[in-house]
Amino acid sequence: MPVASTIGLHLGVATVIERFGTDEQREAFLPDMATFETVGVLGQSEANAGSNKLEMETTAAQHDDEWVLNGHKQWVSGFLNADYVLTYAKTGPDEDAPHNISAFLVPAEEFEVDEIWETLGANSVKSPRITLNDIRVPADRLIGEEGEGYVARGEIHTGVNVPARGVGIARAALEDTAAYTSSREQYDQHISDFQGVQWEIGEMAERVDTARLLTLRAADRADQGHDVTREFAMAKINATQAAVDNANKAVQLHGGLGYTTEHHVERYLRDAKLLTIAGGPNEGHKDTLAKAVIERYGE
Ligand SMILES: Cc1cc2nc3c(=O)[nH]c(=O)nc-3n(C[C@H](O)[C@H](O)[C@H](O)COP(=O)(O)OP(=O)(O)OC[C@H]3O[C@@H](n4cnc5c(N)ncnc54)[C@H](O)[C@@H]3O)c2cc1C
Repeated sequence: MPVASTIGLHLGVATVIERFGTDEQREAFLPDMATFETVGVLGQSEANAGSNKLEMETTAAQHDDEWVLNGHKQWVSGFLNADYVLTYAKTGPDEDAPHNISAFLVPAEEFEVDEIWETLGANSVKSPRITLNDIRVPADRLIGEEGEGYVARGEIHTGVNVPARGVGIARAALEDTAAYTSSREQYDQHISDFQGVQWEIGEMAERVDTARLLTLRAADRADQGHDVTREFAMAKINATQAAVDNANKAVQLHGGLGYTTEHHVERYLRDAKLLTIAGGPNEGHKDTLAKAVIERYGE
């Protein structure tokens, strides 16, 4: 899963440059990003700007033909192997929110690492807290319009990578469980011969297909240029919870060995839990979904 996350975040940075950058920026950055010669990561969250990114405290001030950035970013996944951090910073007063945040492409070497956490899962990628201390970047490192970085970000849908990862974990948990329970015997029969186990496996399969279809629908409608606020929120909530539920069931149905590192299912459970938090906690997506539905059908 961390590999998919790294690729997804990298493509998200490239998409912002492709959609909102100038021709010069596209030519300067995208060819090397396309071949992974250079890697981009996302610096949006901060200690006090988690679910609500509008609370970010990092600032960028223009001095002649440079921007000077100060603040910090937190949970920058893949930072330790990155070349650029797509860094969101306030360039205008709070009363202009959400039109007061801009995006900058900042070389990773300019940051200082403050803290690298040990995490429950997704262990092959670290997501440190990093500091920007009077970092100076040329004016042409502003990507997109000044003040419109946050709003523009809402127009791209690379976040569909998160529910897609959920589908992957939910599917892997299902396949491992079907294979294990149909080979493990107790009471002179395969575990999968118990009706209770069969129903669990059926429900796991339902979760995979529901999550997959919702995710494909969101991706497909985004590709067609539709507003996918409702579809994306639904896919994110459903697929990430499906990953947690299926991984949890998989551990249970593997018995004691499911609780060991001999099988993959304990890792699925640890990795899956991240997905209901990162990319915005599911509670926030439920708010978004409800608002979209009420807007559509409400009086
Ligand atoms: C391993 C990891 C990798 C990450 N990678 C990146 C990255 O690469 N780049 C990046 O910018 N960010 C990244 N993030 C940040 C991630 O997007 C935030 O953690 C997430 O948005 C939640 O913010 P928070 O942790 O501050 O939780 P908080 O905002 O403090 O929320 C805490 C909890 O409060 C509850 N809550 C929040 N909002 C609501 C609501 N509206 N209704 C009800 N309950 C609510 C939820 O249960 C939530 O989990 C990563 C996070 C982790 C843990």
